[in-house]
Amino acid sequence: MNSQQIKPDISIKSVTMGGIPYRIVAADVLCPNGACGIYCHATGPIITGAYAALVCSRCGFVVLIETTEDFVEGKGSYTIKDSYPKKTATVDPSVPKEMAADYLEAYRCFSVAAWHGCAVMVRRCIHQVVEHFKAQPGGSLYSQIEDLKNRHLIFPVLAELAQQVRVLGNHGAHPYDTKGNLLTELEMEDARSALDFCDAIFDQLFVTPAKIAASKQRVK
Ligand SMILES: [Zn+2]
Repeated sequence: MNSQQIKPDISIKSVTMGGIPYRIVAADVLCPNGACGIYCHATGPIITGAYAALVCSRCGFVVLIETTEDFVEGKGSYTIKDSYPKKTATVDPSVPKEMAADYLEAYRCFSVAAWHGCAVMVRRCIHQVVEHFKAQPGGSLYSQIEDLKNRHLIFPVLAELAQQVRVLGNHGAHPYDTKGNLLTELEMEDARSALDFCDAIFDQLFVTPAKIAASKQRVK
């Protein structure tokens, strides 16, 4: 069962449409639409008790949620017990298997609001990428990413994305840096950024080259 904590700013308000009273829930939910698929603000009517049908503000997709307790006006915090349909993450088949597995694990972390775990798993993806392209062995992840950039295997902007994933992963894995400074706690936006950056890296290194190869094959 997929348990998500709705943000505390959830609100329930009453509206009347066509003379019929409705209670409307507003919350942040993980949108199950594959083309959207991120945490979005969603609103919609309570159907009965602990059930509400919410519409994603980004894509308009409807997700049915069930909370652990019935909706009560004035109460500010609920936990989603179940939702329908489920969000399923996918990775393009051109992405090597070991990286795809790490990415999907990162996505599973994201879907249960495990922001730190998500960032650590995306960092693991980047480690797999640098190993795949045989970056200088024994170096730190920082220097391995720089090595790929210096060998013109990745564009500078892609190296910057990879370095930021490395930093987010460090924040996910460690409460303090090497000098003992407290590291920032990660939030949803940080985990989402790590996944987005990894998508961009996969896209340039694996997905786009596979598309070009397929196109060349077609017009040969
Ligand atoms: Zn959506």
